Amino acid sequence: MGKLKIASYWAAACGGCDVAILDIHEKIVDVANIADIVFWPVATDFKEKDVEGYPDGYIDVTLFHGAIRNSENEHYAQLLRRKSKVLVAFGSCSMMGGIPGLANFKSRDGILSRVYLESPSTQNREGVLPQTRVEVPEGELELPYFYEDVKTLADVVDVDYFMPGCPPAPHQIWAVLQVIASGNLPPKGAVVGASDKSLCDECPRVKTEKKVKKFYRPHEIIPDPEKCLLEQGIVCMGPVTRGGCGAQCTRANMPCRGCYGPLDGVVDQGAKFVSTLASIVDADTPEEAEEIIGKIVDPAGTFYRFGLPGSLLRRARNA
Ligand code: SF4
Ligand code: SF4
Repeated sequence: MGKLKIASYWAAACGGCDVAILDIHEKIVDVANIADIVFWPVATDFKEKDVEGYPDGYIDVTLFHGAIRNSENEHYAQLLRRKSKVLVAFGSCSMMGGIPGLANFKSRDGILSRVYLESPSTQNREGVLPQTRVEVPEGELELPYFYEDVKTLADVVDVDYFMPGCPPAPHQIWAVLQVIASGNLPPKGAVVGASDKSLCDECPRVKTEKKVKKFYRPHEIIPDPEKCLLEQGIVCMGPVTRGGCGAQCTRANMPCRGCYGPLDGVVDQGAKFVSTLASIVDADTPEEAEEIIGKIVDPAGTFYRFGLPGSLLRRARNA
């Protein structure tokens, strides 16, 4: 078998997924032995017209990072889908919407107004908002259209595999690249580079009975370094989150925020966590339960931190 042709593209994302690929360190040399990179804007000088010039299905595997926030993101998703045999939604943003997906708690108009008109550091006396066509002395520029909603990659194209993580853990990236190189691919639609058990399963903290009388934000308490954080009243999404990261956050005394997404069979990670909470709140009356739950700051932004666009909610209702 000849060398694989691999592409990596970054849509609405922070760049962390590309950094995670480089975090496989010296194994990147092994990648060069098994694969030719045919498009990777952050690291190589290929242009859009190069990709357009490839025959359909020319690229063996594209790792697509980032959510679909604007028309350019969707254009590249469709282009790379057409040119790739295998398309991987790589990272939480591509798979579930990720942190950019939190924008679905706001409207398009609200975001543009906040960013371009109201923010304290903005001077925009004429109230100019981004336009998709702009005349400049050299001609007309075309800019992407900013969508009302952040979407997942699978909302706009057919996706072969899903790899969660914000970003995916480097050891998982290397494992997935080896599987791809072996040609021994899992069934279409599979979640790759992750566990099928919950994060609690790989978290080394001691678990006993979960009964919570009071919730704290991480800065309000110095947690016992050995005990389950959720049992200490720190909201930890571990019970409803797919493992595979090695419990990086809980090992560093921080609660899991759910970036590896829901477990198999769970449609809505946030809703699942609400039912987890209902089973651990130690209240004798509805009023006490309300008081305990009321201590959780920003519940929607916490329970749907990485997956609002991919959830059943998808977005907040526009006023
Ligand atoms: S700290 Fe979080 S991930 Fe670890 S056992 Fe407790 S709930 Fe699960
Ligand atoms: S502990 Fe949770 S938030 Fe942290 S990397 Fe793992 S899955 Fe993501």
